[in-house]
Amino acid sequence: MAKPFASAGDLAEKKETLEILADGVYALTAEGDPNVGAIEGEDFLVCFEARATPAAARDWLTKLREHTDKPIKYLVLTHYHAVRVLGASAFEAEHIITSDTTRKLIEERGKQDWDSEFGRMPRLFKKPEEIPGLTWPTETFADEYTIELGGDRGTVELKFCGRGHTAGDIVAWHEKSKTLFAGDLVEAEAALYTGDAFHFDWSSTTLDTVKAYRSENLIGGRGAVAKGVEATDAAIEQTRHFLKVMIEEVGKVHKAGGSLKEAFEGTHAALSPQFGKWPIFEHCLPFDVQRVWDEFDNIDWPRIWTMERDKEVWDLLQG
Ligand SMILES: [Zn+2]
Repeated sequence: MAKPFASAGDLAEKKETLEILADGVYALTAEGDPNVGAIEGEDFLVCFEARATPAAARDWLTKLREHTDKPIKYLVLTHYHAVRVLGASAFEAEHIITSDTTRKLIEERGKQDWDSEFGRMPRLFKKPEEIPGLTWPTETFADEYTIELGGDRGTVELKFCGRGHTAGDIVAWHEKSKTLFAGDLVEAEAALYTGDAFHFDWSSTTLDTVKAYRSENLIGGRGAVAKGVEATDAAIEQTRHFLKVMIEEVGKVHKAGGSLKEAFEGTHAALSPQFGKWPIFEHCLPFDVQRVWDEFDNIDWPRIWTMERDKEVWDLLQG
């Protein structure tokens, strides 16, 4: 039987869990669906990630509003992917912050990415007709950006750690509670999506920079919150392992003059014992392998995914 395209066959609602990790530090996880979070300033909120639609974002904000009614001053978007950003209008935030590179990627491929992700993960797009258009940052930065929270609440430091899941990912660090919002640079018990990634940078220097925070709470892009330095290290190393296995398996076939399909089969066989049952593994792997292959072909800047290219690669590798 043919596998349903990407996550198109995944229609079951996921259970959402709101956790208070420290005073005023919130994370909402959802069994492998994209995570979101918030940190309280003295008289405002900083929110992290926006979900796929305003309606999906409102579901999260309703839960957050049981704990705080402070206005949302900042919405931080770790990268440009549609399921992370298109709900932004629901936050009515004064500032929407991304990296400079994320803005460039929204300009270059925001619309194609919206169409592609809608096709891959339709369940996440609740009331898609309410999306007002692409989400644009109001402020961007190259390397670092600091938000003073006021009172004794400390700061939120945003940082570009190097190319990884995309060319422009950032992380958010709250030193006071040792909490790191790592975006899709780290996944905890969820498969990695690497279709727009830089596997060599990500698996080496970028993850080293993320690990150097010694975080005690790590909220990755998907999966449970990792708690304690041992667990956050484990989540980072598991992410690195997934990347390194892909590089090794795809590299072997590429060097031997084999085909993309052979590279996919080898990678699938190597990863599935450990990762096969994790959310979105079968969905992501064809796109992931194609991008590693492109990197071995010296295609530095990721090719743009469109609905047509999605189907082509899917049919070739999972069809
Ligand atoms: Zn992403």
